[in-house]
Amino acid sequence: MPSLDVFLSTPWLLYLTVLFVSLCIGSFLNVVILRLPKMMHQEWRCQCQEFLEVPEGERKSEETVTLSRPASTCPSCGHRIRPWENIPVVSYLFLRGKCSNCKTRISPRYPLIEAITAVFSLITVWLLGPSAGTLWALALVWALIALTMIDFDTQLLPDNITLPLMWLGLVLNYFGYLTDFTSAFWGAVAGYLSLWSVYWLFKLVTGKEGMGHGDFKLLAAIGAWLGWQLLPAVVLLSSLVGAIVGISLMVFRKHGREVPIPFGPYLAAAGLLSLWFGDEILFGWYAWLGVG
Ligand SMILES: [Zn+2]
Repeated sequence: MPSLDVFLSTPWLLYLTVLFVSLCIGSFLNVVILRLPKMMHQEWRCQCQEFLEVPEGERKSEETVTLSRPASTCPSCGHRIRPWENIPVVSYLFLRGKCSNCKTRISPRYPLIEAITAVFSLITVWLLGPSAGTLWALALVWALIALTMIDFDTQLLPDNITLPLMWLGLVLNYFGYLTDFTSAFWGAVAGYLSLWSVYWLFKLVTGKEGMGHGDFKLLAAIGAWLGWQLLPAVVLLSSLVGAIVGISLMVFRKHGREVPIPFGPYLAAAGLLSLWFGDEILFGWYAWLGVG
């Protein structure tokens, strides 16, 4: 594709486009992070009521939430957010972080997620270099950001994101965008089975559930995108970061050991680091093992 080549070989055009697109995607991720868990709860409630054969009249009626409906409003005064108040990062700064109608503070989390999405996307293009594979890799970065925040908020890793992410990784690597297909295929298999085995071992020994099924699917997706070779690094990095954060939470905030700490954000962070520094990680790994 000649037009794609021109685009990729014009740095200012590439970075500027990635900046604008990823800011808008960040704004969309805010909606996904907020609404997808609500949509899942709604669906579960609906299924439970159907299963329990609750009569139509006794079912709890509620306004259906989708990604596009209802329109975004201020949670305090119900003021409908106008398009110019919805420009990523810029509107927040312009409104000085307050609702234009009732002056209630808007959480800085929204512009932060938009900014992080843009910064991570630019870093990805910078580190991986301009190629079609890099543009596809942005989809992985965006999905990991959404999954991290949803898991952080709700301890859920929605199948609606993890499963399509895994399939997309397999399809892209069928065409060799980020790794070869064999590595991607065994990456998905090993990613799922490794955590699945840990889960059952932990359950047999302690009788408790140590992690959610979403974690297996997320590691399968990461394996499908990056290949099985990087999985040991992903698991090691996420356990290390998880252990450090977990222990410091217990020490500093008297976080009980029974309070579940979501593992998804650590897996996602390790997946992102492995996407960025995969070659360096593998090189170090092979040097340490004395092969290659
Ligand atoms: Zn308001």
